[in-house]
Amino acid sequence: MAKIKAIIFDVCGVLALDKRKDAAKYNRRVLGVHEYVAKKLKISLDQYFDSIDTDYTKSMAGEISEEKVVKEIAANFKITPKKLKKLYLGAYESHFKQNEQLFKELSKLEKQGYILAVLSDQWHLSEDPLMPKKLYKRFGVLIVSCDVGLRKPDPKIYKLVLKKLKLKPSQTVFVDNQEWNLKPARKLGMKAIQFKNNKQLFQDLKELGIE
Ligand SMILES: [Mg+2]
Repeated sequence: MAKIKAIIFDVCGVLALDKRKDAAKYNRRVLGVHEYVAKKLKISLDQYFDSIDTDYTKSMAGEISEEKVVKEIAANFKITPKKLKKLYLGAYESHFKQNEQLFKELSKLEKQGYILAVLSDQWHLSEDPLMPKKLYKRFGVLIVSCDVGLRKPDPKIYKLVLKKLKLKPSQTVFVDNQEWNLKPARKLGMKAIQFKNNKQLFQDLKELGIE
């Protein structure tokens, strides 16, 4: 068995957790990101989705520039680009929290010499709120869909991570909360762990000899 040299993490549902999973702690109903924005703009969810339309998907796949997506959606909502960015910042911050326990564990893994990487699907308006530079500068390789023009589960984006890491698939493990994102990784020969919670992740890593 090849020795694992790098651990690659997904963001939403792994490094950033949905607050709705423990909503009781927050003493209020945690709105979904889109629901939050629609409510702030006082429009229906249907009208909201019509307004972001294909720009959202195109942005996620890096097929449109950040400037263009912000300008177009702001115009549809009849607000300024600055206000739009602020709105989404608030939406993502109220919906997600950083997985602090996992970030602490990352420091231990780093000390043992593992390379830490990120493979994430984001659109231009979620990248900054969810992946603050201060927290994410530690990752040796950061592959984000809207920046590279590819998204999961396209095998090409997995190959891109491996190329940047300069490692063989068998020397890496990929952690994602969605099974469909793990399939291409397994097919390439990477180890794959479906994230459910921190305890289970640490246990699964241990079984791969990582602790
Ligand atoms: Mg995810």
